[in-house]
Amino acid sequence: MFNSGILMVIAGPSGAGKTTLAHHLVSAFPNTSFSVSTTTRAPRGAEVHGSDYFFVDHNTFMEKIRNSFFLEWAEVHGNHYGTDGEWVRSQLAGGNSVVLDIDVQGAVQVKKAVPSAVLVFVLPARRDTLLQRLRGRSTDSEKTVMKRMDAASMEVASMGSFDYFIPNDDLAASRDSIETIFRAEGLRMKNTGWPQPAMEYHRDFFQGLSYWRGKRVVVSSGPTREMIDDVRFVSNRSSGLMGVSLAEAFLAAGAMVTLVSGPAGVADPPGPVKLVSVGSAAEMGEALSSNLKGADLLVMAAAVSDFRPAEAFPGKISRGRDPLSLELIPTPDILASLTPECPVVAFALEYGNGASSSARMKMNRKGADAVFLNRGDVPGRGMESPDNAGELIFRDSSAPVSIPPGSKKFVAFGIAAALGRVFSG
Ligand code: ADP
Ligand code: 5GP
Repeated sequence: MFNSGILMVIAGPSGAGKTTLAHHLVSAFPNTSFSVSTTTRAPRGAEVHGSDYFFVDHNTFMEKIRNSFFLEWAEVHGNHYGTDGEWVRSQLAGGNSVVLDIDVQGAVQVKKAVPSAVLVFVLPARRDTLLQRLRGRSTDSEKTVMKRMDAASMEVASMGSFDYFIPNDDLAASRDSIETIFRAEGLRMKNTGWPQPAMEYHRDFFQGLSYWRGKRVVVSSGPTREMIDDVRFVSNRSSGLMGVSLAEAFLAAGAMVTLVSGPAGVADPPGPVKLVSVGSAAEMGEALSSNLKGADLLVMAAAVSDFRPAEAFPGKISRGRDPLSLELIPTPDILASLTPECPVVAFALEYGNGASSSARMKMNRKGADAVFLNRGDVPGRGMESPDNAGELIFRDSSAPVSIPPGSKKFVAFGIAAALGRVFSG
C-alpha cells in the first residue's frame, strides 16, 4: 500500500526563520526534500545554481510561466520566484515529502492547486524581534529593511489562510513544533491509504486492489454549478467525499489518479492526485475529455446537474416584488459526448422499490460497464453523508458485489477492490 508524501509550505515574512525551519525538517526526516525554486534574482554571495536556486533571466522565467512549468509563482521584492510543479508532483507520487520555503502569495496558490498541502506560518512573537533580525543579518540599507517590514504587515494579513502558526523565538521550541506538525500530518488518514492493520479485519474485502498498480484512473466528483447569474446557481446536493475517497483508494492501490471535481465542500485529495477543478457540467465534460487519454478506468462519481438555466445573466439579478421564472434546459450528457476507450463505472442514487432495476437501466443507457447503486432513501447513506453502502452491478454476467455500510473511504476501497477482482477475471 502506498503512503502519500506530505507537501509542507513554510511561509512568513523575510527574516521570520522559514529557511532555518525548512532545512531542519529536511535533515530530521527521511525521504524529505527541499524544493529548489527558480528565480530571476541575481545570485548572492556563495549561492550555487541548482542548490540554492535555479537562476534564470526574465525571458526564460516568462517562458516557463507560459509552459505551465510552475506550481506557483510570485513577484517578491521586485524579483520573480517560482516552484517547479512537475518536480513536486513526482516527489509526492514517489511517496516522498517536499518542503517549500516560499512567500505568502505563493503559499495560497499552492493550497488551491494541492488542497492537501500543509501551510505553516512562521513569525517571531514580537515585531521588534523581526526588525532586529533583519537589521542584524543583512547588509541591506535601513530603507530596504523598512520596505521588508512593510511587506511583513501585508504578509501577516494573509495568515488566516494558513493551517498552522509557529511563533519563532526559542529555536528549539520551534523545531519541536514543526516536527510535531510533520509527524501528525504523516499519520493523517488521508495520507495513509487504508492501513494494513485495519485490513486484517476485512481480508477478502480488499482482495483485488493490486490490479490497479501502475494503471491510470480518472474520477469525477462533487456537484456541478449551473449559473443563473454571477451569484446564484442550480446544483445538486453533494459533498464530494465519495469522489475524493475513490481517488484515495485507487492511489493507495498504486494507480495514477486524476480527480475532476466540481465545487465540492470536500475536494482535498492526497498530494499525488492530479486535481482538476471545474464549475459547470459542460466544463466537467471538457476536463474529462482532455484527461481521459490513456486511462484504464473512468469512475463517474460526480452528481452532475441534469438541468441548467437556459440563459445566465451577467452580474446579479436584483430582488424585485414580482416572481421570477426560470427556464431550465437539460445539460449535455457527459458520457455520451466522451466515448471513452476504457471501462466506465457510473454511480446511481436511487429511491424506492425499483432502485436496482433503475440503476441497471442507467448503466445500459449510459453504456457503462458497471454501476454503483447507493440509495437516497436510507438514512446515513449517499449524498452529504460521511458513510455509504450499496451494490456494485456489472453489465456482463459478473455477480453483483454488495458493499457493506462503512465510511465512504471504506466503501471506496471496497469498490476499487471489487472492480480489480472482476477485471482481472
Ligand atoms: P527567512 O528564511 O524567513 O528569511 P531565516 O531562516 O533565514 O529566515 O532566518 C533569519 C535569521 O534569523 C537567520 O540569521 C537565522 O539564523 C535567525 N533565526 C531564525 N530563527 C531564529 C530564532 N528562533 N532565534 C534566533 N535567531 C533565529
Ligand atoms: P530571497 O531572495 O531572500 O532568497 O527570497 C526572497 C523571498 O522569496 C522569500 O520570502 C522566499 O520565501 C521567497 N521565495 C523563494 N522561492 C520562492 C518561490 O518559488 N515561490 C515564491 N512564491 N516565493 C519564493
